Amino acid sequence: MALNKTWNQHVVKKENKSLVLNVIQSSSPISRADIASITGLNKGTVSSQVTELIDEHLIYESGPGKSSGGRRPVMLLFNKIAGYSIGIDLGVNYILGLLTDLEGNICKENYIKIKDLSFDEIMEKLYEVIDSLIASVPSSPYGIIGIGIGVPGTVDNNGNILLAPNLKWKNIHLKEILEEKYHIPIVIENEANGGAHGERKFGIGMDTKHIVYVSIGIGIGVGLILNGELYKGNNGFSGELGHMTIDINGKDCRCGSKGCWELYASEQALDDYAAQLKLTSLSEEEISLESLLSLAEKGE
Ligand SMILES: [Zn+2]
Repeated sequence: MALNKTWNQHVVKKENKSLVLNVIQSSSPISRADIASITGLNKGTVSSQVTELIDEHLIYESGPGKSSGGRRPVMLLFNKIAGYSIGIDLGVNYILGLLTDLEGNICKENYIKIKDLSFDEIMEKLYEVIDSLIASVPSSPYGIIGIGIGVPGTVDNNGNILLAPNLKWKNIHLKEILEEKYHIPIVIENEANGGAHGERKFGIGMDTKHIVYVSIGIGIGVGLILNGELYKGNNGFSGELGHMTIDINGKDCRCGSKGCWELYASEQALDDYAAQLKLTSLSEEEISLESLLSLAEKGE
């Protein structure tokens, strides 16, 4: 019984603390009194949680804020540079790496082009991008708190890549590989799911509960937000939508199926059409989205 009681107190304390931190994160700058009235916690509880959060460098006090009369309260702010995180968009023909603060503001970017590389070569490039971002992180109490990676394929709930046809990857335990190397939390997600989540949190989908996010690059991915939640389906449904058959007598696809959507509407499809039609002065190797766009801008 006693153990149980202590355990419950411990859980409640932790929940209160995270509640207080969440309110400061979303409504900073904010006074202790306003935190108490928003959360319904009593002032003593708020005060002791705030002290702990200040000691942990997750929040800080700033000068006095507006007061409705009487003494002006001290305001509390979220310390967005208590740590940093790394986000990677692992594309078929590029790797984009970002260093962000704890509010998701971009502090540093590293973009490299890749083409037709083996698994080992891609991993080497991925490490280079991650290492360069780690090397650039300013000193902070928590350092890099995690790495999130979007990949062009189906990902199961354990962060294993089941199939990434355009990279020719199958059953890659990317989360495990990276956790062993970097010893920090790693999140692997389908890139279109990641994009949908990003739009929901920071972009065009902030005010809506339902989003269909279509990511068109070398392949096609689709991420769905339904009722405010990322729809995961059975083990990574979204990576498969680009491989939905739209022409049963169509061309062969790298996924083993025929007539997939992305064979007709992706960046790769555009490059292929341009090469077939010999519309441009570019050689086949020179054709890319960028080179076609720049020709189009010149009126070709
Ligand atoms: Zn396919």
